[in-house]
Amino acid sequence: MKIAIAGAGAMGSRFGIMLQKGGNEVLLIDGWKEHVDAIQTKGLQANFNGEDITVNIPIMLQSEVHSDEKMDVIILFTKAMQLEKMLQDITCMISKQTKVLCLLNGIGHEDVIEKFVPMQNIYIGNTMWTAGMEGAGKVKLFGNGSIELQNLGKGQEEGAKALAELLSASGLNAKYLDNIHYSIYRKACVNGTMNGLCTVLDVNMAGLGLTTPANDMVETIVKEFASVAEKEDVHLDIEEVITHVKSCFNAETIGMHYPSMHQDLIKNHRLTEIDYINGAISRKGRKYGIATPYCDFLTQLVHAKEQILGVK
Ligand code: NAD
Repeated sequence: MKIAIAGAGAMGSRFGIMLQKGGNEVLLIDGWKEHVDAIQTKGLQANFNGEDITVNIPIMLQSEVHSDEKMDVIILFTKAMQLEKMLQDITCMISKQTKVLCLLNGIGHEDVIEKFVPMQNIYIGNTMWTAGMEGAGKVKLFGNGSIELQNLGKGQEEGAKALAELLSASGLNAKYLDNIHYSIYRKACVNGTMNGLCTVLDVNMAGLGLTTPANDMVETIVKEFASVAEKEDVHLDIEEVITHVKSCFNAETIGMHYPSMHQDLIKNHRLTEIDYINGAISRKGRKYGIATPYCDFLTQLVHAKEQILGVK
């Protein structure tokens, strides 16, 4: 299969390496020139579960995608704010048959993708795989993960199942789900609480859990997500989701980790995806006439922090 990974940062690199190893013809596409240059000259360097490897894998700058070579599958792995520009740049690779899979965190990416890809070819999902950038051309890949995905287009279930099989054949452990929006909202509740709060408070998840307002803040934010989801016919089990989110406070499992937004903004001074997580709930809340004061405020606080740190 000819697979393009559009957005070859940490996650895109992981997927690229695994899919190439699985026998696919993979092309990475990215907008970070230093990273592209490093991979073209020295290969992609990865610490893969503790072992240092160098992988020769084709990569090109998204601004140089002029070929009209069509892809069988395109996996989108930009940050949310880079998605639209990426799709503009790679439009020439999308044929009527190209399946486009979006595994970005956040809510509502289909609204952007639909502008470039026919609905029947759009697939969305969630992934529990993780990855980290260590610098241009270098990634750290640790642990196991999984993928859940579904077709957006009516009658494309078989296409979604085939896509899940293709990914699983390379060890990516993917499965078809018939209620992906539930799963996306459930994961967004984790990101919508842990990411913004730990970033603004500059604390890890266990540290957040030790504060007296933590429980109330988490519960209120999850309820805002649930009210908006309800308007989209996604009926979250609020108690289960709150318990799931609070499990992040456990210092013996994942609590000592800083969420990715903290790493992006506080550690690496990069812009955050807040507009596509809590900000998306605020926008949808306005559209549906639902008050979302905690999401509104958290979005503003994260933007204020971006500005204080001079991040553009
Ligand atoms: P990433 O930041 O590693 O890469 C995204 C893009 O940013 C790539 O184009 C990359 O080249 C570019 N980039 C990275 N560092 C840069 C730098 N210093 N300067 C300039 N450009 C840079 O993002 P990611 O972690 O791969 O995440 C992609 C999507 O997947 C996001 O929506 C994220 O929320 C989601 N996600 C990430 C993880 C994870 O563990 N990293 C897990 C699940 C979902």
